Amino acid sequence: MTRQAASYRERRVLLAGDAAHVHSPVGGQGLNIGVQDAVNLGWKLAQVVHGTSPESLLDTYQAERHPIGARVLKLTMAQTALNRGDERTTALRETMSDLLSMDEPRKRYAATMSGLDIRYDLGEGHPLLGRRVPDLDLVTASGPQRVFTLLHQALPVLLNLGEPGALDIARWADRVQRVDARYAGGWELPVLGMIAAPCAVLIRPDGHVAWVGDGTDRGLRDALATWFGPPNHEKPTD
Ligand SMILES: Cc1cc2nc3c(=O)[nH]c(=O)nc-3n(C[C@H](O)[C@H](O)[C@H](O)COP(=O)(O)OP(=O)(O)OC[C@H]3O[C@@H](n4cnc5c(N)ncnc54)[C@H](O)[C@@H]3O)c2cc1C
Repeated sequence: MTRQAASYRERRVLLAGDAAHVHSPVGGQGLNIGVQDAVNLGWKLAQVVHGTSPESLLDTYQAERHPIGARVLKLTMAQTALNRGDERTTALRETMSDLLSMDEPRKRYAATMSGLDIRYDLGEGHPLLGRRVPDLDLVTASGPQRVFTLLHQALPVLLNLGEPGALDIARWADRVQRVDARYAGGWELPVLGMIAAPCAVLIRPDGHVAWVGDGTDRGLRDALATWFGPPNHEKPTD
């Protein structure tokens, strides 16, 4: 069976996991994308329920996750077809195996299967935008720290790798953690390889990058307002 809900939301009902998409277990991706759905939705739902963000934030759940489900459905249909036992399919499977013995196709396929190549469409810009931030080894004022550890609080993180204190997010300080850190290594992403080091990144609670700094704060306030609600003094009082 290969099926996907046309809409992941109907008013107060939201679908995630196998309720939203079912497919052959070949490739072992069903649980992974179900958990990713929940992680994508959880913080958005919390912000809408708490009145931090408008209800339209929930529309980004469908926009971001529906294409990922559709892609997994397509991939599992292809894998199911490759597992048929007739001679032509065996020839096709062997041809695929040959292709996957090459570095570039193998890396691409592995990144797709693991979901590590996922990029939500957050517009043009730095290659990190919309992608999952890598789990870098940082040096902070309180000692060494991994990026993913910073996300344990399920709050957004503004990771500032430039001059400490340079980026002002005072009007979002109750919702967004600012971490000044240093990072000496390279930035390597699945499929893309090495990319230009950013000066700062705004990381959503699901680990995806919502804004990339080029040494200025251009676009930062817009990104903060889009994803984490209006700045404090502009918040409606009702
Ligand atoms: C053979 C097989 C192998 C798999 N291998 C992998 C793998 O290697 N890697 C991977 O990522 N995924 C794998 N999957 C897929 C994975 O198991 C599912 O994608 C995942 O379990 C879906 O989780 P879920 O919480 O969305 O749904 P479910 O796990 O189906 O949970 C739904 C729950 O709701 C309950 N429920 C239903 N109706 C009601 C009701 N009316 N009231 C209350 N409760 C209700 C059900 O009893 C169930 O406990 C495999 C699946 C199969 C079948």
